Order: sequence, then structure tokens, then C-alpha cells
Amino acid sequence: MKFTELPLSEDVLAGIAKAGYTECTPVQEKVLPISLSGKDVMVQSKTGSGKTAVFLLTILEKYSRNRSGAALIVSPTRELAVQIEEDARVLAAGFPDYRIGCFYGGVGYKEQNEELSSGLNLYVGTPGRLLDFAKSNKLDFRVFDTIVLDEADRMFDMGFYPDVQSMFAQMVPSSERQTMLFSATLSTKVRNLAWQYMSEPEEIAVQPEEITVKNITQELFHVTKDEKFSLFLSILKKLNPSSCLIFTNTKDRAVEVAKRLSMNGYKAEYLMGDMPQSKRLKTLEKMKEGKLPYLVATDVAARGLQIDDLELVVNYDIPEDYENYVHRIGRTARAGKTGKAITLACEEYIYGLEAIEDYIQMKIPVLWPDEVGLESVEDKSAGYHYRSYRSSGRGRDDRKDSSRSRGGKNTRKTQRISKSRKPQKNEDSVIEKSNTDFSKLSEMSLDERMAYYKKQYAPSAAPKSEKKRPQPKKAQKPAVQKAPKDSMRKAPEPKVEEVKTEVKSARKGLFSRIKARIFGA
Ligand code: ADP
Ligand code: MG
Repeated sequence: MKFTELPLSEDVLAGIAKAGYTECTPVQEKVLPISLSGKDVMVQSKTGSGKTAVFLLTILEKYSRNRSGAALIVSPTRELAVQIEEDARVLAAGFPDYRIGCFYGGVGYKEQNEELSSGLNLYVGTPGRLLDFAKSNKLDFRVFDTIVLDEADRMFDMGFYPDVQSMFAQMVPSSERQTMLFSATLSTKVRNLAWQYMSEPEEIAVQPEEITVKNITQELFHVTKDEKFSLFLSILKKLNPSSCLIFTNTKDRAVEVAKRLSMNGYKAEYLMGDMPQSKRLKTLEKMKEGKLPYLVATDVAARGLQIDDLELVVNYDIPEDYENYVHRIGRTARAGKTGKAITLACEEYIYGLEAIEDYIQMKIPVLWPDEVGLESVEDKSAGYHYRSYRSSGRGRDDRKDSSRSRGGKNTRKTQRISKSRKPQKNEDSVIEKSNTDFSKLSEMSLDERMAYYKKQYAPSAAPKSEKKRPQPKKAQKPAVQKAPKDSMRKAPEPKVEEVKTEVKSARKGLFSRIKARIFGA
């Protein structure tokens, strides 16, 4: 369907032409006829399917007809808010007087204050800053006749539910406004929100998430944690991508990978949720302009980012939340293009793989380094590891990165360890120069590989001093093996020695799970 077949005014069509769109994407074709009629809509469609234009065009067409009213778009992250604002400026090209403002935290209030007092047609913002302005009576939520909640699922993940509730409580009743909700997934939580705050919304689900991965070549390498970086270097040497987004599960790992890439001569930077706003925007801009080929990010930092023509996505760590796998690899192959996603499966995060494969309803093809002609590359950063020693300033990335996690708990344990004393050899957090050539690992049979993993992580391989240490309290040990997630959260903070033994014993149990996975038991 062409945009010209929709009931859109000339001025709106001018903006669409400026954006270079001619044909509707499936979600646009399905939702626009309904949203343009003024109905509430609850929309689920995959990342990159063109949801932004659905709500922006609805808002602009309404403006074109009434020349009055104000619209509010709530976004979970600053980047996404900025992106929406950018898109809005393009699509509003036919309305020279249309006023758009963007409101997010992490920057001063002054400029945004001035913008607010001047009166706008479209307000885009993150929940925290919008509520701040409402509290100081600079913003009145009752002025809005159109409300958009973008990435509703992410709002929950990031803990914005109370903020969202608080905003809705300050608005005019749902029957007096049009409310539109957009999400990559429609969870029960998101549906509940819709029931609570929307007026007989029409639910439109366009394509299941699985279809997202169709245009993406997915590959997976099994590798030990110690050898992950050198394998990554070999992959980069072979593929030499012009743009590559790398995902890690923790902020520290993101910094580390970016630094190690730089040490090896790759131009790389990292992006995290708690970085100063100006720096994040600058980094992103560089990537978009093609000046920065490698960007390392956590899930939260990268959410909603739009980098066109991204050639390669690397899951340096397997995401612990299976939905994030689709969000991550969906950064490539946007708007129908093809792309490539490589996943590095190490012993720390392999446990997330099964849920991912269930979710995408396919096995990710496994490649072996020697079979695809990967060569060993000298790692100029061998032995380097990064660990931030701040643990109090836990940003959103931490919150997200540790939620629903399994292996991630181990990481947090080791962060505690490294706070209390210097990391020692063989410890979880230390990257050691490894003697094992990963290509050898790929030559091994599965049995040999399992034996290798076992040898590396069996308690007998631990440093001697380890054995003399007191065993963890009886009550903790079985609890950890059965349900590491909950018991670790609830257990009183154990002493350093106990933590370390605990991690080891948790690992032991996990090996049988790796084995079960590999052998398909
Ligand atoms: P979503 O919010 O669903 O993840 P976006 O709205 O960010 O996706 O759109 C993804 C990309 O597709 C953007 O680069 C956008 O400019 C582009 N796009 C959206 N609609 C169209 C269209 N009708 N034709 C071509 N490109 C489009
Ligand atoms: Mg979007």
C-alpha cells in the first residue's frame, strides 16, 4: 500500500516524501487506517518495522485537521527520544510552524525549561524528566489530547511503571484523549497497562518476533571465556566489517572489550546508560556518520538505537534474556535489509542459549573456527582486564543487566570479591593469557571438549589455597545448585571466601547442564 492511498493531507504527504518513504511497511498499512480514525491502538510489531512513523503520522494528520491540541510521546531512553524527535522534524516538514520539543534527563533544565514555556505541539520525553517538569508546574499533562507510549515493554524492564502510572493519573480521562501504545512484545504487564489507561484499544499484532531474524545470517561459535576475545579478533580479521555493534551483558565488559579492541588497532568506543548525555549522542553520531566502525554496548544503552546499514552484530555475551537476542540482532537488517549476527557462546552465558533457540524456533547454526578458515591473531591486549571499582552508582544498565539473570549473578559476586581484595590468578574476573589455541578446541570431539571444560573448571584445578578455605554453610550450597537466581538474591551477603566457593559449586552443577545441552539429553 502506498501512503497516497491513506487519508492523509498534502502537508503530511510532503513530510513522508521528505523522509523518502513511498510504500507503507506492514505495521503502517495495518495500523494507520485505525489510528487515523482516532481510535486507541495497542500495537506489537518487531523492532525496525516502522512503528515510529505510525504514531508520528497519526499525530501530524490530526494537527493538519484541527490545528490545535498537543501530543505527548513517552520513550524509555534518551536516545530513543532524540531519535523520535529527529524523525518528527523530518515528517513535519510540511508544517513550518509545527513546534517540537524533547525532554530527557542527564542534561540541564534551563534550555528545556525555555522550550516548555514557549508552548509546543509535540512533546517527546523520558518519564523522569517529564514528571520533574510536572512537579514544578512547568508541564501540565492535562493539555495532551494524544498520548503515545513507545517501547512499552522496555518501560517495564527499566522500572518506569510507577512513573507511567503517575503520568496517566495526571492526564485527562482516557475517553477524552487518544492513547497509542507500541511495543516489540505484548506481555501481560503491557496488556494490563492498556486495560487500565486506554479506551477500548484495538490490539494489532503484525508479525511475530521470529520473522525478524529471517533476513539475518546467524552464526554461533562455542568458545571458552578465556579465549573469547582472541576468537573475536580472528573473526574481525576475516570479516573486516565496516560497521559492527557488539553487545555485552555488563558495563564493565563493554568497557573492556572496547579498550581491548582499541589496543588491537580497531577504532572502538562503548556506549552505556549512565554516560553523560552529550557523550552518548556524540558517539552515536560518529557511528551514524561512518567515522566509528565499532561500538560496544549493553542492552539498555543500545535499545531503540537506529544505525542504518549496520553490517554485523556480535553477541560477545549470550544475552540472559532471550527477547534481547532478537532486539540485539534486529539492529542489523533494518527495514528489509540483510545482515549478519555472530554469537559467542562461552561457559558463563551458554545457559541462555536454549531459551533463545526456543523463542526464535530455530537452532543457531554452529561454526567451528578452523572450518571457516579463521586464523589465530596476536592479541595485543592479552592479560588486560577492566573492572570498575564503583559499585554504589548502579545505573540502569546494572539493573537491566542483572535482571532475570543466571550467570550474571556470578559476575556480581566477583565484583564484590574484587572490591575486597585484588583479583588473583584463576579468578573469574581475570583475563589470563591463555595457552590454548582455540582452533585446537574446535578439532576436539564433543567428549574431548567436555573433558577440557571440566578440567578447566573442576575444583581440583583451583589454586591450592582454595582447598584450605572453609566450606560454605550447608544451607547455602544445595540452594545455589538448585536455584542460583533466587537463593543468591535472598541469601545474606556471604563472606568473600564463601562467595568464591559458592560460585565454583554453582559452576559444577552448570556443567552437567552444558553437557545435557550439547548432547541433546
Ligand atoms: P520500530 O520503531 O518499529 O523499531 P522504526 O520506526 O525506528 O522501527 O523504523 C525503522 C527504520 O525504517 C527507520 O530507519 C525508518 O526511517 C525506516 N522506515 C520506516 N517506515 C518506512 C517506510 N514506509 N519506508 C521505508 N523506510 C521506512
Ligand atoms: Mg520504535
